[in-house]
Amino acid sequence: MRELNTDETRIAFRAESGGKTQSYICVNPYSSVAFPKNRFRRPLLNWYRENARNLPWRKTRNPYAILISEFMLQQTQVATVLSYYNRWLRRFPDFATLAHASEATVLHAWQGLGYYARARNLHATARIVVNRYGHFPRAIARIRELPGIGRYTANAIATFAFDQSVPIVEANTARVLTRLFNFQKPIDCTAGREALWKRAAVLVPKSSAGTYNSALIDLGALVCLPRQPKCEICPVKKFCRARNAETLPIKKARPPTRRLVETHALIVKQGKILLAQSVARWRGMWILPPLQTRSTTKRAVQMSIFPFTHHRITLAVYRHPAPPKIFSNQKWFEISALKNIAMPSPHRRATRHLLTAGRAARSRRQRS
Ligand code: SF4
Repeated sequence: MRELNTDETRIAFRAESGGKTQSYICVNPYSSVAFPKNRFRRPLLNWYRENARNLPWRKTRNPYAILISEFMLQQTQVATVLSYYNRWLRRFPDFATLAHASEATVLHAWQGLGYYARARNLHATARIVVNRYGHFPRAIARIRELPGIGRYTANAIATFAFDQSVPIVEANTARVLTRLFNFQKPIDCTAGREALWKRAAVLVPKSSAGTYNSALIDLGALVCLPRQPKCEICPVKKFCRARNAETLPIKKARPPTRRLVETHALIVKQGKILLAQSVARWRGMWILPPLQTRSTTKRAVQMSIFPFTHHRITLAVYRHPAPPKIFSNQKWFEISALKNIAMPSPHRRATRHLLTAGRAARSRRQRS
């Protein structure tokens, strides 16, 4: 038997019978159309009532608060976001406060979460909401026009803030859905991604969609784990068609990790430190001044490694004397005021370490 074509509802195949080759079309048993949606949702929602995670953004319908949580949760673990979310809402309680803050203040508040484009997009979104709409738009097409908001984030705000009946596909729901349907296409290519969104859409209820979507996320986070899924306690086990759950979802091979070395200078003079305002990866934030070349004669006073997308970056810091003139993007800062300046975590850690080590060495010299 040779399979010719499979789509959402049908499978076409060719088989030999009595010396003849015949073409057949049958119903796709893995189709989401044939999926018993109502019978599937009931145990899922019952399970969620008992096991839902206690997350602060689940207790609100305020689109601003939900937007903040969704931006923070992109690329960042829930445990990390929890420590930032409430602090952020205290500092910027609504769109107007965020819109009127300076970029430096916003980047400083985001410090430690990484991927600072999210903070800049959030800031730009707040300004558009305040200046163009006066309130957060409800229409998904309008939400998707806002900076940094793609299909997932738009649908998440629509379903969690406005209870719209729309699907969401993120890491947890993608894992659950691909396993439920034994979905064998890579989910990070266009065809696979679109097919998965279609399946997700078929299952969403007309009402209480926000609760259903939260339940699916929590099932992925607590039961349908990437490794060793807890199928024995899974509330939707009898609907699951996964044959080898741990192999799903299928993804394309990742690009290999690239190693980079970035060299920067530690320049300190009379209680002040020279910093440069980044125009690249950390645009708008203050970093140790970059060096064009790696010194072959001097030893770095600090080496540390941090990840960035598919890079593994070694940050090498060299002590330098104060230059006679500084560039226009450079500025001297009081060391005692550094905590008020937006600095990316790798540079802040290196600076703090070196300044603390320098103070300790000075006090040892004074004692001896
Ligand atoms: S039965 Fe296992 S693989 Fe299937 S949805 Fe439940 S936890 Fe995931």
